[in-house]
Amino acid sequence: MDERSPLRHLDAFAAIVGREHVLTDPDKLLDYGHDEFSLREIARVPEVVLKPASAAEVAAILKLADSIPLPVTTRGGATGLCGGAVPSPGAVVLSTERMNRVLEIDPVNLMGVVEAGVTLRQFEDAVEEAGFYFPPHPGEESAMMGGMIATNAGGSRAVKYGVLRNYVRGLEVVTATGEILNLGGKLMKSSTGYSLLHLMIGSEGTLGVVTKAIIQFLTKPALTRSLVIPFDGIDAAIETVPRLLRRVVPVALEFVPLDVLLITAEHLHKSWPCGRGDTHLFVILDASSEDEMDRLSESVAEEALAAGALDVFIADTARKQEDVLAVRSKIYEAIKAETVEILDICVPRSEIAGHVKFVRDLGEMHGIWLPTFGHAGDGNVHTHVMRVRHADGRSVPLPEAEWRGKFERVREEIVADGVARGGVISGEHGIGLVKKRHFAATVPAAQIELMRAVKRAFDPHGILNPGKIFDG
Ligand SMILES: Cc1cc2nc3c(=O)[nH]c(=O)nc-3n(C[C@H](O)[C@H](O)[C@H](O)COP(=O)(O)OP(=O)(O)OC[C@H]3O[C@@H](n4cnc5c(N)ncnc54)[C@H](O)[C@@H]3O)c2cc1C
Repeated sequence: MDERSPLRHLDAFAAIVGREHVLTDPDKLLDYGHDEFSLREIARVPEVVLKPASAAEVAAILKLADSIPLPVTTRGGATGLCGGAVPSPGAVVLSTERMNRVLEIDPVNLMGVVEAGVTLRQFEDAVEEAGFYFPPHPGEESAMMGGMIATNAGGSRAVKYGVLRNYVRGLEVVTATGEILNLGGKLMKSSTGYSLLHLMIGSEGTLGVVTKAIIQFLTKPALTRSLVIPFDGIDAAIETVPRLLRRVVPVALEFVPLDVLLITAEHLHKSWPCGRGDTHLFVILDASSEDEMDRLSESVAEEALAAGALDVFIADTARKQEDVLAVRSKIYEAIKAETVEILDICVPRSEIAGHVKFVRDLGEMHGIWLPTFGHAGDGNVHTHVMRVRHADGRSVPLPEAEWRGKFERVREEIVADGVARGGVISGEHGIGLVKKRHFAATVPAAQIELMRAVKRAFDPHGILNPGKIFDG
């Protein structure tokens, strides 16, 4: 058997993690071959999955893998949308699922210490139970802290509260050669040399394996309120966004076409508060007092109505707020079956309207449904490339050959438009496998060369998730 086959090293793996934590049963391996990207042609079922329980075990695995050399793909919750956790060719999968303890909630430093396999839901529960608040919220709560850090995840609250990078204060990371690094700490500031901590954030498992993290949390805002603002026409809705941002800093500011909201409400057997207009802005505000909340709500309503809003609905009771948030957060679930890819382009906020209009015209020109919605407040525009066209509020399936041809073409054009407007191809999902081609085409070669040099410094034999983000 080839030295580089992971099957050849089963005894050595078992000696590190225990025989029961080395998976080789084909039925059990199937789930480890893909993430949430829809097209299964990028999937690759691994031959071996390892489930270490500590940094020491991860270090022993990497030392062994580096000596062979054998590629290793680290896997968190596998909720990624661009194939980052899909095993590299010949790779052993290192699953962090057993490293799942919240080790500490420190109310003095306002920081939690967690293992990499702690899920977002687990961390949120622990933080809330202690009376605090963790703002970053990528939509899928089974995402794990290691994966969220490795993708620099965001979510709708990024407008006011930023992304994962703004909350990671310390990391325990195992390098490709099996060294355990402790970067940062329970610190709010550091100007102490190059920030290796920040290099790790967003590195998609290519520079090291995160085993532990120190994550900041905040005090809980006293009040939150959701507003739904219908507009006739996407132009009016999107052009309102910069006007609102000049008056208030909302927690979230999203735009969603009404047809998508109604499909989702139907899917959930819930109702959406307003059927007027064709594009709705969805605003979440928080405040420390009723007076402040009323002042902020009035500013939003005043500005929106002056900009052409048809109405302003305020979800001020817990029940109304829950219903509105449920619909907004379940859109992906409602249209998932027909979605090929969720693009993640981030443009300057001044370019959102132009980009969204470009996508709308492109969809009409190609006869493909491209529902576009997302984080209007931070310019992160999620165009969904669908395998259907849309007529009279209903989806009409396209033959496979047709949507596949259109998928590639519209994707190219949307990326080109986003980049021409000063944007980037990923605001929060990362590059993984799926966006690699666009990464190479849109990031200057000199910058990619520097990234390759960084990768070589951390991972001289190229064993960590090779072939992700860029080719080595
Ligand atoms: C319904 C839905 C909604 C979503 N909404 C959002 C959203 O609003 N915002 C957003 O940002 N994302 C969103 N996502 C995408 C996804 O949830 C995030 O990318 C998340 O951060 C991935 O975490 P994970 O644990 O699932 O990582 P995985 O998918 O397992 O892995 C992602 C990458 O991280 C690497 N990795 C994983 N663990 C580690 C580790 N311990 N050390 C080093 N590298 C590691 C993997 O190798 C891979 O490259 C959504 C996904 C879904 C399905």
